[in-house]
Amino acid sequence: MITIRDLSKRYDDNTVLNGINLDVPTHTVTAIIGPSGSGKTTLLRLIDLLEGPTSGEISFDGVGALTSEDARLEMRRRMVIVFQKPVVFSGSVYDNVSYGLKIRGQGRRDMREKVLHALETVDLSGYENRRARTLSWGEAQRVALARAMVIEPELLLLDEPTANLDPVSTARVEQLIARVIGELHTTVIMATHDMAQGQRLADQIAVLIGGEMLQVGNPGEIFNLPNSMQVAHFVGVENVLEGVIASKEQGLVNVSIGSHVIEGISDLEPGAEVSACIRPEEVILSLTQAPTSAGNTFYGTITSMVSTGPLVRVVIDCGFPLVALITTRSAQELELKRETRVCASFKATGVHIVKG
Ligand code: ADP
Ligand code: MG
Repeated sequence: MITIRDLSKRYDDNTVLNGINLDVPTHTVTAIIGPSGSGKTTLLRLIDLLEGPTSGEISFDGVGALTSEDARLEMRRRMVIVFQKPVVFSGSVYDNVSYGLKIRGQGRRDMREKVLHALETVDLSGYENRRARTLSWGEAQRVALARAMVIEPELLLLDEPTANLDPVSTARVEQLIARVIGELHTTVIMATHDMAQGQRLADQIAVLIGGEMLQVGNPGEIFNLPNSMQVAHFVGVENVLEGVIASKEQGLVNVSIGSHVIEGISDLEPGAEVSACIRPEEVILSLTQAPTSAGNTFYGTITSMVSTGPLVRVVIDCGFPLVALITTRSAQELELKRETRVCASFKATGVHIVKG
């Protein structure tokens, strides 16, 4: 278990990380997600003990890593970091992958077996004699992954492992990462700006925005119950409507959004300034009337329709813009197009209300 308490990092006047708290249980995958410049790489470098924090603590299994140089070096031996830009040395792929074993004094025969197995795991069997510098970016990334896994680290740190790859290579590298994680039974902390990647690979997601850890939870919680407007925007909730709670009855609140009222579920009290978050897939469109179970019904005109494969993203002007995501098939059945007048509805339980 890795415990991070009140960790801050300042460069001159620039506070890059501010009061970070994070618990990473053993044998789990944590994704640190956040936009570019939010401090993800800096946090990984601090966890890797490459760099010291301005203040705060990091401990591994209850032992403070920053208490002495011996403790720091001991912890560093147990982990490995794979940087965003894959680093390969001159020499062969074999030399690259065996590097960590060599400096750890591994015997030759075991070493060959481990290296070949690692190459097989990252789908690079037969590449051992290739010059590492002649590899493509994606292949180099996989060599870096193999080099990290051969030493069987207790903690594997990955910085944006697919940041510069095309979608096909991204899917492949993600698969390989999942395979490496499964084989090593190791603890992983990875940084990514890709929410969907976090959801695919991680048990726990930590949302880092502007150097602050805004929310830590499982992917479902982060995706469906963002705790702030910033997190909601980052995880792709497209309908974030600002308003004030006008009334409350048995957990059901009415939120005034301009001259409109949206019904939702919240513990907050009347008068509270809130944002009502509605996932576009929660919005149902019809030509006449809404299903009676939907608490919220608005009439409006379609202002835009963008097709993304099997789904269509429809924007409706209901006096406020509302985005709906519906299947291409139902868009065709309803004969929807720009200027069509529709009825948009969503249940009160589909409205997630956050403060501010
Ligand atoms: P991310 O990985 O989320 O894109 P980084 O951790 O790389 O974010 O950077 C966060 C901020 O910290 C940036 O504004 C960056 O300019 C600043 N920063 C990072 N490293 C240094 C450094 N060595 N000196 C000064 N500023 C730095
Ligand atoms: Mg980075």
